[in-house]
Amino acid sequence: METCTVLMADNEPCGRPLYKPTPVAAPVSACIMHFDGPKPLDLVQGEVNALIAGTSQRSKLGISDFSGFLFPGGVVFSEAVFSRYACFIGAKFSGPVDFSQAKFTKDANFAQARFLQTAFCNAVFAGACTFAAVRFGHRVDFGKVTMKKKADFRDSRFEGEVSFGDATLHSAVFSESEFLGRAWFGGASILEGADFQTVHFHSDADFFDAKLFGRCRFTYGRYEGDSSFSGTLLGDSDFSCSEFRAFANFYKTVFTGQASFNLTKFQDVRFDSARFDEGAEFESATFTGSAEFQNASFGFSSAHAGIADFTNARFESPNKVWLTQVNRGPAPGLRVRFVNCDVERIHLEDVRWHRRAGRMVLQDELDIDLGYKERLGQRCESPGHELVAIAYRQLIDNFDKVRSLDLAEDCYCGAMDMTRRNLGVPLVSRCVLAVYKVLSSYGSSYARALLVLVLFVLAFASVFSAAWTGLRPARDNPANVRMADSFLRRYPAGLIHALEVATFQRDTMYGLPARPGRLATIAEQVVIPIQAGLLALALRRRFRR
Ligand SMILES: [Zn+2]
Repeated sequence: METCTVLMADNEPCGRPLYKPTPVAAPVSACIMHFDGPKPLDLVQGEVNALIAGTSQRSKLGISDFSGFLFPGGVVFSEAVFSRYACFIGAKFSGPVDFSQAKFTKDANFAQARFLQTAFCNAVFAGACTFAAVRFGHRVDFGKVTMKKKADFRDSRFEGEVSFGDATLHSAVFSESEFLGRAWFGGASILEGADFQTVHFHSDADFFDAKLFGRCRFTYGRYEGDSSFSGTLLGDSDFSCSEFRAFANFYKTVFTGQASFNLTKFQDVRFDSARFDEGAEFESATFTGSAEFQNASFGFSSAHAGIADFTNARFESPNKVWLTQVNRGPAPGLRVRFVNCDVERIHLEDVRWHRRAGRMVLQDELDIDLGYKERLGQRCESPGHELVAIAYRQLIDNFDKVRSLDLAEDCYCGAMDMTRRNLGVPLVSRCVLAVYKVLSSYGSSYARALLVLVLFVLAFASVFSAAWTGLRPARDNPANVRMADSFLRRYPAGLIHALEVATFQRDTMYGLPARPGRLATIAEQVVIPIQAGLLALALRRRFRR
């Protein structure tokens, strides 16, 4: 008697008798399980139950083999307990099928299966489960499913709405999958990493309140519809090279590890109140529409310097970019890289900046100090001085517009520091800048200018007190006194004379008949007005309207 030749999981032919649709008809080329056409449901269900229980004539040790079976609608799997390896490779479910509350105590393999409509709600997979290259029809529900070992959905195609709501998955792989309908992962927990590389979401993708632990790879993803990671907790996450073609919502998202959005393209995106515990990279990212980072915090955990890296980022609508009130909470000051990123017109109000030596400082400048820039644990070349200076100059204009004068001055000093330390700038200019910095912090610190002015007067007082200058009472001065011999006793007279010279007094108490003393007087008359001028300039700059 001829038997069914369809190969099963063990590569042996099926061996079931060929199916006869009616007792008098000629047999078809396959058994009842592999026959693609109308067939009595009770016979199919009977064989299914026997395979699950291990009582079928075709039962093999340790496996319930459903490979290539063609199931009519109405077959019941709900609450079934699969105590053997459940193999559904290439099976086809031509009607709705229900696996809800089923229990798979060993591995389950649905690779290349085809479902029309299915529910796995509350099902428990104790072993590894494979749904690779599966085609799911217009509705599939994995709500509250538990997958205790690796869940493999790679290369699958979800043609309708799909729900993984409140599901618990372990090291889930969805790479290269396609979601044609809405994908709902709300409240789901994915442990030990999630792989969503090159996934294509044609409609909305929603990870609202989900928790993804471990490495979350979302690289090269495409999001045609709105995507929401609102309230989601993500481990080390990589969204590099992804494309969000509609609204992307990362409101209150918590990135507990490093977050990478390098080369990612955003339409409208909100990151407000998001937490980037170990910083975030937006290198060469493109923001076409609005980008909101209000109240976001970078570097929440103190273990790592959380850096916000916007190197080479492009803001196409800069007036819709809001980096306001960033790091206002318990996070430390914002360390940000802005090289090659147009920051002249974006909103930067009320940000708590990282400061060094009393002024706001960009991470780009710190990178130059270090001699390298650390990205994803690797050392790269630090940016050039001139590029950092340009970033500072753009920030000056930005802060000037909102009258944040102190910050504008900080950035001015930053730009000057970068020019001063740029080896490409002529040595003379760099020396002039160095002197300018010492005298008044590039004309921006009146406190420094005043201090230096006082020091100058005291220094000239010391010079005049020295014996070699020959300071003596002026001849026509009525207060004719004898000069003391020791330096310290002469110092009051030297100080008086230094003050008189500094204030251009004609009728001085003391005179300097000798040549060295005259030269010292000329030097003071040159230096003091310059320093006074610098003081006036610094005052004017700090208190302009
Ligand atoms: Zn067969």
